[in-house]
Amino acid sequence: MTIMARPHLLVIAYPTQGHVMPLMELSHNLVDRGFKITFVNTEFNHKRVVAALSNNNADYEEFIHLASIPDGMEPEEDRNQLGKLSDLMENVMPEHLEELIKNINESDNGDSKITCVLADANMGWALEVADKLSIRRAAFWPASGVLLAVLLHIPKMIEDGIIDTDGSLKKTEMIQLSPEMPAMNPAHFVWLLMGDLDTQKSIFNLIVSNNRAVKLADYFVCNSFPELEPSVFTLVPNLQPIGPLCASSRLAQFWPEDSTCLNWLDQQPAHSVIYVAFGSLTILDKRQFDELALGLELSGQRFLWVVRPDLTEGTDTYPDGFEERVGSRGQMVGWAPQREVLAHPSVACFLTHCGWNSTIEGLSHGVPFLCWPYFADQIVNKSYICDLWKIGLGFNPDENGLISKEEIKTKVISLLGDEEIKERSLNMKEIAKKNVSNGGASFKNFEDFVQGIK
Ligand code: UDP
Repeated sequence: MTIMARPHLLVIAYPTQGHVMPLMELSHNLVDRGFKITFVNTEFNHKRVVAALSNNNADYEEFIHLASIPDGMEPEEDRNQLGKLSDLMENVMPEHLEELIKNINESDNGDSKITCVLADANMGWALEVADKLSIRRAAFWPASGVLLAVLLHIPKMIEDGIIDTDGSLKKTEMIQLSPEMPAMNPAHFVWLLMGDLDTQKSIFNLIVSNNRAVKLADYFVCNSFPELEPSVFTLVPNLQPIGPLCASSRLAQFWPEDSTCLNWLDQQPAHSVIYVAFGSLTILDKRQFDELALGLELSGQRFLWVVRPDLTEGTDTYPDGFEERVGSRGQMVGWAPQREVLAHPSVACFLTHCGWNSTIEGLSHGVPFLCWPYFADQIVNKSYICDLWKIGLGFNPDENGLISKEEIKTKVISLLGDEEIKERSLNMKEIAKKNVSNGGASFKNFEDFVQGIK
């Protein structure tokens, strides 16, 4: 009897936590369907993933091999400079990726050559490398479909005089891509919310080259599902939703997770805890950090707060006496197993920065949201949550741009008392579950994808 070799896929993610995590989950799902994976991180992130894995005494399964290539930055440079990082990656990484693929394919005895590259659509150059080597190509979109629809619309927006060829705004009135989609404020275009002018330009250029490169992909999948953003899949018909992807946190963490918070959650009453987390990139200034701490205290509720080591600029001490006053009612951790936390029955709501993964993870567990967007696509995600799906509330900053402790308390109390939002959240959880269950739309799309790339 001959044993069929596993098709070998090379997977490469944009080097931030919110991109690596869903692609790693997708890789695990593909291993379950008979694939072998080489998962490529930047060298910098590879070290973090390996360190966090060993901290959790975890290991990768036999069919996922972790590989790495340099990103072009010096070891001590700040990887949160996404514009600079993207520019350098585009210059340096294609050559390394090509060499990696050639090495694997030349050293292989023939039955396990890389036959397909699955690239984050934000790493379009990887699709170009695969094309050059005549290897099949698939792309993964890790954010909302609506964001992709807007980005693909860039040439038309330039033609219509809404933006300039460098991405800067020429008109400020609201635009609507299709009658079924919400009107968008052009000031919220993702590249305009990415930092200083140089960063905005770098990110805009990256988007333009990615738009070109994704046309090389034979398959294009995303972490969403049809009911979440129905008109998008008519507008971008080759984009197939296969979400929600949110099974387990223990996949590719950049920080060692503190799972003691799960034991603490076990001891709290059902639906009593506010889970507070701002993803991997958000930075709060010290005044806002203090106000948040005091707001959580003032709310009188139990809370679990992820205070990443780099959540604040400069000193990350809590306001005077805060820890003593909240005592065992509040738990702070450096990094949580977020998906397990959101699945925990003690969690009542999710105070989030509205990153797409956090959004998908929260709604898949039926948890209502308190929205505190920071940058990039998070503002659009917030309007999805609050205005379209109506499963959360936003905060109103005061005249100094600060979200005050009183505002935090008020919104926490309103959300916890809002039965309609809770009901809609639970309904959303059911829709999400159905999509990935046998026969669901995302399930079928995933099956087609598997058959296509095999
Ligand atoms: N996350 C986690 N533990 C934490 C905070 C975040 O595992 O304490 C994970 C979260 O589950 C999500 C990812 O980090 O999968 C963050 O991605 P998201 O798109 O929400 O935000 P980003 O970090 O890209 O801003």
